[in-house]
Amino acid sequence: MSHDGIKIVSAEEARRDASQEQMKLPVEATTPLKIRVMKTEGTGVEIDWKDGHKSAWNFAWLRNGCPCATCHEERGKSGRVPGEAKPRAQALLMMYEAPPRPVEVTPVGKYAVKFKWNDGHEAGIYSWEYLRKVCQCAECKAKADLM
Ligand SMILES: [Zn+2]
Ligand SMILES: [Zn+2]
Repeated sequence: MSHDGIKIVSAEEARRDASQEQMKLPVEATTPLKIRVMKTEGTGVEIDWKDGHKSAWNFAWLRNGCPCATCHEERGKSGRVPGEAKPRAQALLMMYEAPPRPVEVTPVGKYAVKFKWNDGHEAGIYSWEYLRKVCQCAECKAKADLM
């Protein structure tokens, strides 16, 4: 018997996946009316949604919230939520790292946007649905905390 393809997930991971699947959003909530990427300013992204809601993320959040499989897995292993920065190891030699910012922003079809970051990473495809689910406004964050 082969056990290939069997993925062992922790209970918490399974719960998180289930709660995300249950959260089906209406089309208006995941359709952007206006997307502003403040690439030159280096600040972040703002989206006005069709349902009237407004979301904003800074670039550091978006880099730490990269939805690609590698980043997702890495966050899972270290118990971080999307957008949470990696804990810094105490070190004698302090390395200065440039704050995350995109060097390239590319639309992906009509459903997502892709960033090429200044650290070279570019695997993440940020779908409107994902972005709406990780909206950082006080109202959405309060809702997410209840789940
Ligand atoms: Zn990634
Ligand atoms: Zn919100």
